[in-house]
Amino acid sequence: MRYAPEVTALDEVSLRIEQGEMLAIVGPSGSGKSTLLNIMGTLDRPTSGTIEILGQDVTRLSDRDLSDIRGRRLGFIFQQFHLTAGLSAAENVATGLLYAGIPRRNRRAMAEEALDRVGLGHRITHRPHELSGGERQRVAIARALVNGPVLVLADEPTGALDTVNGQAVLRLLTELNAEGTTIALITHDRDIAAQAPRQVHMRDGRLIADVISPESAA
Ligand code: ADP
Repeated sequence: MRYAPEVTALDEVSLRIEQGEMLAIVGPSGSGKSTLLNIMGTLDRPTSGTIEILGQDVTRLSDRDLSDIRGRRLGFIFQQFHLTAGLSAAENVATGLLYAGIPRRNRRAMAEEALDRVGLGHRITHRPHELSGGERQRVAIARALVNGPVLVLADEPTGALDTVNGQAVLRLLTELNAEGTTIALITHDRDIAAQAPRQVHMRDGRLIADVISPESAA
């Protein structure tokens, strides 16, 4: 049997996100960005330390309680969109409500409202293959937003898009943040990171710098 060496993916990281913030988590590949995002999103558990969401320690909750918190409190956006191929944009967004206990009759209207918010009110019946990459990511953003999460976690949301579409997605996230949505996004694109009001720099599993942009601190 091969011995798998132990990896310390995160070490002594302390991070507090206030409601209404937008921050970029930056750092080289392997620095612990995804691990940090997964732990904040209750998808991974830390071996030590605690995670609090709205002041509640979630570190030792059951898997069932954690999936409930994810469904009600958190929104997730991925590099590759993760939309379901056979479903319309509205149906894809409505899946964001499946685990949130929202009655079926309300889901459709909420999904359409979320699509409106991301500028896709005219694309609700389109399926993913009928949408551009930028539009697909907008559907995924609508899905992340549809239940009014306290925190949206985005793992390289512009990573699969060209510069123009990537900038458009970043603009949308910035607008949503201005309307009150709290957003943490991973990026290794310096231009994208520089546009976020706060940048958290990771290296070798450690948080090495936490920078508030001067213009946003005013
Ligand atoms: P980043 O997102 O910054 O590229 P990751 O959080 O993916 O970094 O990885 C941090 C470290 O943890 C890396 O050394 C990586 O190889 C290791 N790692 C990540 N996931 C696993 C895993 N499931 N098993 C073993 N090591 C892992």
